[in-house]
Amino acid sequence: MTATPTSKPRPVALPAALTVKELGDTLGVSAVEIIKRLMTHGVMASMNQSIDFDTAAIVSVDLGFDPSEAGAVETAPAAAPVAEEEAPDDPALLKPRPPVVTILGHVDHGKTSLLDTIRKTKVAAGEAGGITQHVGAYQVERNGNTITFIDTPGHAAFTAMRARGAQVTDIAVLVVAADDGVMPQTAEAISHAQAAGVPMIVAINKMDLPGANPDRVKQQLTEHNTVVEDYGGDVIAVPVSATKGTGIEDLLDSISLVAEVAELKANPDRPGQAVVIEAEMDPSRGPVATLLVKNGTLRQGDAIVVGEISGKVKAMFDYKGARIREAGPSTPVVVMGLDVAPEAGERVRVVADEKTARQIVDERKRGREADEQTDHAHVNLDTLFNEISAGKLKELIIILKTDVRGSAEAIKSSLERLSTSEVKVKIIHAGTGAVSDSDAMLAEASNGIILAFNAKTDPSARKRADATGVDIRSYTIIYQLLEDIEKALAGMYEPVYNTVVDGHAEVRQLFKSSKLGQIAGCFVLDGTLRRGSNVRVIRKGAEIAKSRCEGLKRFQDDVREVASGYECGVVLSGFDKFAEGDVLEFIHEERAN
Ligand code: GDP
Repeated sequence: MTATPTSKPRPVALPAALTVKELGDTLGVSAVEIIKRLMTHGVMASMNQSIDFDTAAIVSVDLGFDPSEAGAVETAPAAAPVAEEEAPDDPALLKPRPPVVTILGHVDHGKTSLLDTIRKTKVAAGEAGGITQHVGAYQVERNGNTITFIDTPGHAAFTAMRARGAQVTDIAVLVVAADDGVMPQTAEAISHAQAAGVPMIVAINKMDLPGANPDRVKQQLTEHNTVVEDYGGDVIAVPVSATKGTGIEDLLDSISLVAEVAELKANPDRPGQAVVIEAEMDPSRGPVATLLVKNGTLRQGDAIVVGEISGKVKAMFDYKGARIREAGPSTPVVVMGLDVAPEAGERVRVVADEKTARQIVDERKRGREADEQTDHAHVNLDTLFNEISAGKLKELIIILKTDVRGSAEAIKSSLERLSTSEVKVKIIHAGTGAVSDSDAMLAEASNGIILAFNAKTDPSARKRADATGVDIRSYTIIYQLLEDIEKALAGMYEPVYNTVVDGHAEVRQLFKSSKLGQIAGCFVLDGTLRRGSNVRVIRKGAEIAKSRCEGLKRFQDDVREVASGYECGVVLSGFDKFAEGDVLEFIHEERAN
């Protein structure tokens, strides 16, 4: 036993419950010291585990303190906010964990076939009752190494996870059909993997086909920042045939090799942290979620929080459907016990008990309400300079879409030259065609902007960008695009507005209203008049006043708009000196850049 301090016990106020780490912080000793003390009293607790006042008090006395409970006992428990931060792991506690692999590549190049072949040849069949065959992830064993595969191929799913702040993939396998070569989605997949900083292995598939040309694939890859070993680079390329099952062992060996180099580790001896891979509402079992444990160990009976959902792990199954009681890092598990099905990409945390889980959910809901009011800003050209000046932004991430490949190359190199000592301009993806949903997702996940040069924006991409605050700028002149970025980087970017005319009305009669003052009885000459628009009052060809349309009436009814050919009453704010024959021009301002 460590020597008991001889000095007088120091008073300390402790809440009704706190984590081991918080107790350490309060007492000014390390969390490890607290854990050791707890062990001597037969209490096994980890750093983020909550302990009650009585337990904390015993340890405090040991360490020379005189503890008292802070606040009224009846009201205290809910008051202390539960720490959301997870303490980093002590490197000494880390142990190797299996790699998590996602398959990316162009449509029809064989992603699904490859996943199926690997599963069929490597997963021992028949031993489990099977709650469901497809659970979103599976594992294979190879020479004593385990590899976890995410069963949803493609970069859309991959980046959707990242956009939610959850990166589960350690290694991306890029499937390229040997007869087809690098295609647009191959290039996209490379950008998405590189933006995520995930190492890649190339599987050159369909080697059984007579038209297979692996050399051409390797050559094409070099044009996309992917240089395979044969060409002097460090990317492993493995020829395979998903349908014939050839090359699969080599591919698995390569994955193990890359995993070894990456030194993937986690701490199995802490409360589980996981990510939702997929979830569904099962009619008989209720919400069923496949989770991938990222760190720690998830156990049956654990109280968990997923986003704004709390619950308890009532039952757990492995990917084959067998009941399990615990799951360590990189293990996919099917979990029952949540009230609601969570969304893919949401993070899962184990907490001390169900009460704490509910408390955290309440705090998150309150936090979200506050967040919604402060409006989370995604990077955009208007505020770019402020972010740079405040030191918050070191890189301007750009996704570039152009009509033809040639302009992409030209714009890309010109943009990169705009980098300054404060901020680097980084184009993480340059492609041809319309701005797609996947581009918007990549921008969201990478905090980037999208520049479209002679390229349209898909409605789905527009919708996602509007919802997430991703800035999409469209240009038809290269010079203008470069100038905007240059100005934005220098803090000289001024939004330019164009005046758009919505319609004209002629004043034909005047009415007096006791409440509204003078109302102009008008006839709509062209366009559409809208309430709230800016209005220019024109008399004999000259503007005599500028105002805003405060009221628009059809007979006695207030209306929002009136179309050409109809009569209406118009009330302007701050102006009512109408004369018969005046023309009212309804206008609005539109962003020009
Ligand atoms: P995904 O869209 O990338 O998931 O591609 P699929 O796995 O659905 O495969 C597309 C088509 O290519 C299917 O008709 C497969 O049977 C075929 N295919 C996949 N892998 C191979 C292969 O190694 N050899 C040959 N000949 N065909 C393959």
